[in-house]
Amino acid sequence: MFNPILFRHRLHKQPELSGYEKNTSDVIVQTLTSFGLKPISGVGGYGVVVVIKSTEDGPNLLFRADTDALPIHEVPCHEHGSEIHGVMHACGHDGHAASLMALAYKLSQTKLQRGSVTLIFQPSEENGQGALA
Ligand SMILES: [Zn+2]
Repeated sequence: MFNPILFRHRLHKQPELSGYEKNTSDVIVQTLTSFGLKPISGVGGYGVVVVIKSTEDGPNLLFRADTDALPIHEVPCHEHGSEIHGVMHACGHDGHAASLMALAYKLSQTKLQRGSVTLIFQPSEENGQGALA
């Protein structure tokens, strides 16, 4: 059973700046793989893409979440505060990624009736480079 709250806390503790989301990417790949999905990593830097297909033709839906953090120091006020000095998930990308991961989990547990769903965990949103790449 996937716990999106704990997943968000994990990302929140280890925020990474745009272009440096290696650990975040690794955690995302490991988690998707644990669901039985087949993620593609290294897309446009540290981006991760997973495509879930039905055997029946149909529309492709795409959902995206950002994964990078900001160069802002977090004053710790909870036990899952940032452990990286001067870097913080201040824009909520940890929540975005946890929400998308919750969707990935749901899709991994459900037979898609038709079409496909593409999930993109996009790095470098804050500087615009991830979408370009
Ligand atoms: Zn942002």
